[in-house]
This record gives sequence, structure tokens and C-alpha cells, in this order.
Amino acid sequence: MNKHVSLKKAVLAGVFSMGLVFLPQTSEAAYTQEDLNAEMTMAVSWMQNSAEYRELCYQAYNTALAQVQRAAAAHKAGAKPLAIVLDADETVLDNSAYQAGRIGTNEDYNTKEWTKWCNAAEALAMPGATDYLQAVDRLGVSIFYVTNRRMDTQYDGTAKNMKELGFPQVDKAHLLLKTTTSNKQPRFDEVAAKYDVVVYMGDNAGDLPIGTYGKKQAVRNALVDANKAKFGVQYIVLPNPVYGDWEPGLYNELDGNYWALTPKQKSEVRNKTMRKWLSKEAREAKAIGHKTLIQQIDDENAAIEKKYGLPAGAIHDDIRN
Ligand SMILES: [Mg+2]
Repeated sequence: MNKHVSLKKAVLAGVFSMGLVFLPQTSEAAYTQEDLNAEMTMAVSWMQNSAEYRELCYQAYNTALAQVQRAAAAHKAGAKPLAIVLDADETVLDNSAYQAGRIGTNEDYNTKEWTKWCNAAEALAMPGATDYLQAVDRLGVSIFYVTNRRMDTQYDGTAKNMKELGFPQVDKAHLLLKTTTSNKQPRFDEVAAKYDVVVYMGDNAGDLPIGTYGKKQAVRNALVDANKAKFGVQYIVLPNPVYGDWEPGLYNELDGNYWALTPKQKSEVRNKTMRKWLSKEAREAKAIGHKTLIQQIDDENAAIEKKYGLPAGAIHDDIRN
């Protein structure tokens, strides 16, 4: 082994032992579901603890109630009866403890665990939800909970939970759980055939009758933009930064199934779909960091050879010592 090669090996060994600065921080196998779950921490903490989340809940229910009061006052005898249509999870039910419980575990969302949570009937009411629903009920307006909790395995726990929280009109005629499809449009149509729906409420674009089911990000956003005049009027939205159809919508590969990706790939999709600003200095530092050490050494050698008019490969690494 010549000196040139051995010196490079020694330098590389030294650098790598200091923390693999030129290698990826984690391998495909090393980035686990637990790492992905940890990405929820800020969002779940915000929902459970911030004054601002409570403010947005109150704002949504107050806005919706004003619309219901206005419609009830203007309602004519013989006209279609009035109703509201709303989602349950993260619209009136707070499931953040379930999400928080996944942080620190390697557990992905799955139906078995979610069913256990639903049937434990331990979700909380979101701030202002019970007061809002009871006020709508007192106005004689029908309430339809259109949720993708499952009718076959999750009805009993869900109904028990909602009744204990004081939610009105919780029965099989008004609690429209998922039977065959997660697309809520057929259930919306069923209600709208008999009722004048004053407001639709939800934390997911799919909770509104605007056609976003199964659509990717650009289409979802375009459909929302096309309906912008209805927000705060007929469509009332609650914030949910933890989960929702916006997440698989980020994955824009043709027919790509986001849910089939590995935890690392999901994290990459989340990161690649962000607009990022870096200072000029940070961009330059990043460009250097992405070169391998060998390439850096070769570049430096070539620069010195060029400066002194030497043939390529003439410089040994030890010229720098
Ligand atoms: Mg929801």
C-alpha cells in the first residue's frame, strides 16, 4: 500500500470516527415507526396545551352557531327541516391522548388499536363542543354525525362516549358511521335529500361536500380555493395538524400509495414537500457537506496541480503536511 492511499485511509478513518459527518445520519432500516411517531410531538402538544387551539375551537363553534341561529329564525313552516352535518373525530371528539400514546412506541396507526380506543369511550369533548351541540339541539335543528369510525365494530363505544359527554341526538338515525366507503358524499346526499343543511363541519376536507376524496394535494387545494366563499359560512373547519387526508395527498407519485411507504420514505415525502429557505452561507455549507471527503481531497489536489502546472495525479496528499 503506498503512502498516498494509506494517508487517505487514515484521514477518512479519523473523520468517520468523529461522527460519520459525510454519511447519512440514519439508514433505511434505522429510521423506525417510532421515529416517525416522534414527528407528531409538537402538533399533539399544541392541540392538548395551547390557548390558541381552544380559541380556534370556540371560533368555529361560535361561527357555526350564528349560522344555525340565523337559519332557525328565518325558517318557514313547511320548508325542509334544518340540519347540521359534522364529523366526530377532531371536530367534536378530542382523540389526542390516543395519538400521544403512540409517541415513544413503534406502533403505527392500525384498526385493531384504534377500535380499542373507540370502545374504551375515553375521548374528551373538544373545548366548546358540548355547549355548541346542545344549543343546536335546543333550536330544534337535527344533528348528523358523519364519521368514518366503523359501524360494525365501533358504534357502541362511540355512542357511549358521545352520550357521556352530553352530545345530543346520539342514535342510529343520527350517528352515520362508515359501512362500506370512507367517501362521505353518499351519506351527505342522504341527509341533504331530506334536510336543508345549514353547516358542514370538520377537520378534514373530506368532511365537506366538495369532492376531495382520494385526491392529491394540488387537486384538494384547488377544490378548496374554488369553494372559498363558503368557508366561515356553510363550511366551518377545525384545525388538525396531527393527521388527515392532507398527509397521503402529499405523495404525488402517479397512483402512489403513501401508506405503503416505509417510515423513512414517509418522512422524506413530508420533508421534500416543504418550501425551505436557507441563507447563502447555509446553502454553500450544505453544498460542501454533500461532497465526499475523497472528492474534496481530489479537488484540492487538482487545484494545486493546476496552480503549479503539474501533470494530473502528481500531487500526493502529504504535500499538505
Ligand atoms: Mg375528523
